Amino acid sequence: MTDRDTRHKKAMQKRKEIVDAKVAKATEERGIVIVITGNGKGKTTSAWGTVARSLGYGYKVAVTQFIKGTWDCGERDIFEGNPNLSVHVMGTGFTWETQDRELDKKACRAAWEQTLPHLQDDAVHLVVLDEITYMLKYGYLEIEEVLEALKNRPEQQSVILTGRAAHRDLIEYADTVSEVRDEKHAFNAGIKAQKGIDW
Ligand code: ATP
Ligand code: MG
Repeated sequence: MTDRDTRHKKAMQKRKEIVDAKVAKATEERGIVIVITGNGKGKTTSAWGTVARSLGYGYKVAVTQFIKGTWDCGERDIFEGNPNLSVHVMGTGFTWETQDRELDKKACRAAWEQTLPHLQDDAVHLVVLDEITYMLKYGYLEIEEVLEALKNRPEQQSVILTGRAAHRDLIEYADTVSEVRDEKHAFNAGIKAQKGIDW
């Protein structure tokens, strides 16, 4: 063994001790609230990745897409027809397309009313609230009602909330928060959004 191998072995032993101690400490078993925020690319795709994980184990999953007008993305063809998945799509397009606050607000309310029963159903393992941060930002939903629904959800249920500029109180309440940083984006270099990559 070279010196470097010996040093590596020692370092790995130390690391294993630290990891084992951390694993031993994490004993609580409950669902978690995950927030995926920030300006970079990868928030919605991360949520769908977790949907795939849950469905893979036969769990029930409910997804609500706030903002999006149609469920027009590659994921749909993979997941559509899965009896364990229910997807609700808010019925209007992007807000800068509809430009009608009252219409958007109504659509948001309807989407939220459809989502609430899932947040109360202990048979649902995972609920995804995609792009919900904008609903809070525009004042279509109140932070209090969202937090109340999260707090009253079944103990083993996890919820993923995505979108830029997540509300401070939501970040504080969540168990896991990831901020996707926009270091670079192809779009800003003039490259068109692509089927199979961006939707
Ligand atoms: P994705 O759905 O690819 O995971 P996202 O959910 O992180 O992206 P959104 O803010 O919801 O990002 O953006 C939706 C669309 O805008 C996607 O097509 C995405 O690829 C694109 N996009 C994401 N981040 C950026 C960015 N920083 N600049 C330009 N376009 C972006
Ligand atoms: Mg998104």
